[in-house]
Amino acid sequence: MRNESCSFCGRSKREVQILLAGYGGAHICENCVAHANTIIEEELSEKPVARIAQVPKPREIARFLDQYVIGQDEAKKVLSVAVYNHYHRIMHQELDDKEVEIEKSNVLLIGQTGTGKTLLARSIAKFLNVPFCIADATVLTEAGYVGEDVESVLVRLLQEADYDVAAAERGIIYIDEIDKITRKADNPSITRDVSGEGVQQALLKMLEGTVANVPPKGGRKHPEQNLVQIDTTNILFICGGAFDGLERIISNRLAVRNIGYGTTPPTTMSNHVNLFKYCQPSDLRGYGLIPEIIGRLPVLTALTPLDEKTLRRILTEPKNAIARQYQKLFEMEGKSLSFDDEVLDEVVRRAHELKLGARGLRSIIEAIMLDLMFDMPDSKTEHYHITIDMATERLTEAQLINFRAAS
Ligand code: ADP
Repeated sequence: MRNESCSFCGRSKREVQILLAGYGGAHICENCVAHANTIIEEELSEKPVARIAQVPKPREIARFLDQYVIGQDEAKKVLSVAVYNHYHRIMHQELDDKEVEIEKSNVLLIGQTGTGKTLLARSIAKFLNVPFCIADATVLTEAGYVGEDVESVLVRLLQEADYDVAAAERGIIYIDEIDKITRKADNPSITRDVSGEGVQQALLKMLEGTVANVPPKGGRKHPEQNLVQIDTTNILFICGGAFDGLERIISNRLAVRNIGYGTTPPTTMSNHVNLFKYCQPSDLRGYGLIPEIIGRLPVLTALTPLDEKTLRRILTEPKNAIARQYQKLFEMEGKSLSFDDEVLDEVVRRAHELKLGARGLRSIIEAIMLDLMFDMPDSKTEHYHITIDMATERLTEAQLINFRAAS
């Protein structure tokens, strides 16, 4: 009989109780199995995604954002510093330094639709490699009402984190349309305001930091599932909204001030500047956000409306620019695609008219490309060049169809 021994620690068969045989004559003893098990458990409980080894500097964060988001330099700067502070705060807590408490810096982004609010939040999460999810404030309700509980947002984040609670607890949640859950001043109901203030109150707990019990599979369909506890203290919340009508509140406030100092009248100001830049907490209060929520969103920044020049850059410059995405799709079929400059200018002009921010760019390009995308994979043509005549023809056709469907 051969003298068998553990291939890991070298102990012979006589020195151990169990010796498992493996492929190619290798063996492992019970001690080494137990040891390996401990290492595996330790490693798995420290998934790299849950740790942020080094806090990136604001300038680094902003530079990364530049690859995806065009313009919005002020918002990038504010967001980069907020994220830098936020993750410093987490590290600070880990050091258990009780002397100075760094407060949480949740962010409020104000800006018209399609100006890049969601894109900024998503890009930050990508940079940090932390779980990210988007929630629409308008579908949220207080617990017990029809609709999604506020906790459902945490379920989604947990799912994004592959059920790794520690990772989810350092994730980023983007709450869209926060401006649509404002307090309704003329709410005739004497009971609670289900759609507005009630949701704000429920959100408030999450923003402040709470330990929520969430059903990992979500919903009320699986009552048997064990609840998972998620601490929201270190989750970064970025809220966004278009805040239609807020400009009026801001300009009224500025008007009062301006009359006092006898400077530029607000009517001329509002025509030329993005009034959101002057937004203060009191304006948000006037708009219907409860003071507690405003207090929990200490970082406030405004996005500027996109002008034609910026829209033109958005079309081709970012890493995942729409024009580039289409070129990639053609490349994947072994073909090439190019556009006349005039085509891109026309797309920008029409998108600007639509007033949907950069969102309009996609729908217009899609209308131009639809037929080509349908035929391209079967066609023998290898090089596609879109001229202005082709583009105008397709857009006219698309409009005709829409017109017929609407009439
Ligand atoms: P919202 O401000 O409504 O959240 P999104 O961030 O969802 O807007 O943007 C809508 C679309 O427009 C996305 O496809 C996004 O990539 C693009 N987009 C919007 N703003 C920018 C920008 N500043 N730079 C690059 N792309 C942008």
